[in-house]
Amino acid sequence: MSKVVLVLSCVFGLLNPAAASAWGYQGHKVVGSIADQLLKPNAKQQVRQILGFDLRTAGPWADCVKSVARHDDGTFHYEVDPNHLEFEVPCTPFDSKEERARIVDYAKRNWFTCTYAPDGFERGCHNTFHFEDVAVQRNRFDRSFQGTSDHDAVAAIGAAIAVLTDQPVPPPFSIRDKKEALFMLAHFIGDLHQPLHVGSVYLDADGTLVDPDLAQRIDPATETTGGNAIQDQNVNLHQEWDDIPTDIGEVATRELLSDARALPASQGRIEDWPAAWASDSVLVSHDAFAGLNFRLIRTEPGNNTWSVAFVDHVEYLRRQDAIKRQQLAKGGARLAELLNAIWP
Ligand SMILES: [Zn+2]
Repeated sequence: MSKVVLVLSCVFGLLNPAAASAWGYQGHKVVGSIADQLLKPNAKQQVRQILGFDLRTAGPWADCVKSVARHDDGTFHYEVDPNHLEFEVPCTPFDSKEERARIVDYAKRNWFTCTYAPDGFERGCHNTFHFEDVAVQRNRFDRSFQGTSDHDAVAAIGAAIAVLTDQPVPPPFSIRDKKEALFMLAHFIGDLHQPLHVGSVYLDADGTLVDPDLAQRIDPATETTGGNAIQDQNVNLHQEWDDIPTDIGEVATRELLSDARALPASQGRIEDWPAAWASDSVLVSHDAFAGLNFRLIRTEPGNNTWSVAFVDHVEYLRRQDAIKRQQLAKGGARLAELLNAIWP
């Protein structure tokens, strides 16, 4: 579950009332926990020394950043929401003065660095680092596709890799040091494996798929913002995918570890891995959106809501459960794979 309202497609200045923080904190902890156990000795030592936390603890960090608010006087503050103290649960390891200051500073440095519509700046550019909105009609990730940007999840992971490999940080990112880069990787690689954080459906008023890549730019009326604008009873489709199977809990299970160990190695240069992993998630999102029918239920300017019906709900839930387990295992395996490659 997510902690704050955030702008999922803020590139286009849309405010969405639903929340998005892939996997909820439990999923991010599980991804980190898998990676912790797959790190080789040198990488493990580097993580311990640079990050000062294990990857399981670090996993939710980038969502804790969403508690930073910008006041009218231009100052930035970490604000605990008294009505949602549960949001703080995964953030308590970072409640020291020093870690809080780092979180606020990261949010501040990455607030105005993207191409938002003016009111989109309410939540800061760092919110866009968590996702892509590649149309489900595509078969891969490509930066030329609609729903991607130079400040999306693939770019954020790439920027963090640059810092950890002593390369210059690509704009528009501001990453203070290797510790911050590790916090980013521990979270965004998890996000990149939640299929609705990468693939998205764009719908018209009849609930029919439209293809945003056939137009010069996305029609805001067609945006479902990774399923946040699609209601299934009283929960939205994105949130359904954020929740992980409850039997997993908050640590790597034996099954997940064994799936993670069995995952084929990533090919090519590590700089190309984030886009390749996103391509894989685009394909997985095809399965996540298969067998669904949509109907427009609410319309507001640039902020439509659809309902979803399932061709076979039992089969859908079975498939969803299997995909989630597979993607958590992949996320953990690839986080470890990357760090083992950086620190062989
Ligand atoms: Zn996230």
